[in-house]
Amino acid sequence: MIDPGGTLGIVGGGQLGRMIALAAARYGLATHVYSPEPDSPAFAVACRHTRKAYDDEAALIAFADAVDVITYEFENVPRRTAEILRQRKPLRPGVEALATTQDRFAEKSFVAGLGIATAPFRAVGGEADLADALAEIGRPAVLKTRRFGYDGKGQVMIRPETAAADAWRTLRGAPCILEGFVAFEREVSVVAARTAEGGFAAYDLCDNSHRDHILDVTRVPAGVSSDTEREAIAITERIAEALDYVGVLAVEMFVVRQGGEEAVVVNEIAPRVHNSGHWTIEGAVTSQFEQHVRAVCGWPLGSPERLGRIEMQNLIGHAADGWRELLARRDTHVHLYGKAEARPGRKMGHLTRVRPERG
Ligand code: AMP
Repeated sequence: MIDPGGTLGIVGGGQLGRMIALAAARYGLATHVYSPEPDSPAFAVACRHTRKAYDDEAALIAFADAVDVITYEFENVPRRTAEILRQRKPLRPGVEALATTQDRFAEKSFVAGLGIATAPFRAVGGEADLADALAEIGRPAVLKTRRFGYDGKGQVMIRPETAAADAWRTLRGAPCILEGFVAFEREVSVVAARTAEGGFAAYDLCDNSHRDHILDVTRVPAGVSSDTEREAIAITERIAEALDYVGVLAVEMFVVRQGGEEAVVVNEIAPRVHNSGHWTIEGAVTSQFEQHVRAVCGWPLGSPERLGRIEMQNLIGHAADGWRELLARRDTHVHLYGKAEARPGRKMGHLTRVRPERG
């Protein structure tokens, strides 16, 4: 449907869009990025960009007319924006994947409906609902806004001593979901790609540690049993199939111990390339960004084979200020996203180390 020489449209201009554009260039594609933000990191590496609002219908139509296929790099693309675009050009992944994953309640209901384990959850529309939901689910629990939460924003822990009214006020009356607290041993993710024909390729399971709710380090292999890893990948394939998904997705999971056995519980689906997959640029035969481009262009997937033991570290806030010293590390691949200002919590770049497998 699109050959090298064609143009890939990318909605969203952050570092994920930037790395998709770099991968597309490697395959001889032109890219056109659509983002309202003036200093979008993806603009600097794309052939063209449109800096307009996501509700600017005329600009969206002109963008769609200028490209061959459209993808996105963040899950909060407004529904109406996606509808306008898909009427003109193939939008991959589709509107269904967006609608399901934008709303935590829709997402958890969808996953649970497939018979896959999640934390217990209830929708909470008001303070009275919260009291009922807490009575059912118990404490500790986590109250999250249904929409627009990320990196721990839009969520509050309800401990035994927390006043429910205070928790509710913290989230300013937004529609919420209450989840039972999962006493996990570790957090993992599966990054995988699916083609329109149902082809599927998953990378090895990623072990993710967070600092201040933001991904800090990803290690692969994840150090779980091979049964757990197989189960996590099988769950991801079922989710991708049920969404009729095209492109790269990530499924974030908790690893728990039930009666001495490891088990996985799904926390969240990201309908896009994912931070925990950045290691694949140097650490796998085909990177997640190349894999995404292949899938959305209707091309065959590449090999997800891992090339060594991986450690990926995010550079957050001022961590990238020491870039000169980082460049001097002989075993480290350095990525900087070209963001002008290092605000606390802002992802400025990442480091990847790929070491030989132990004998
Ligand atoms: P989320 O925005 O859903 O990815 O949540 C951000 C982080 O909060 C996760 O990576 C977990 O560390 C923690 N968290 C979220 N939901 C739960 C839960 N139900 N039980 C325990 N920890 C959670």
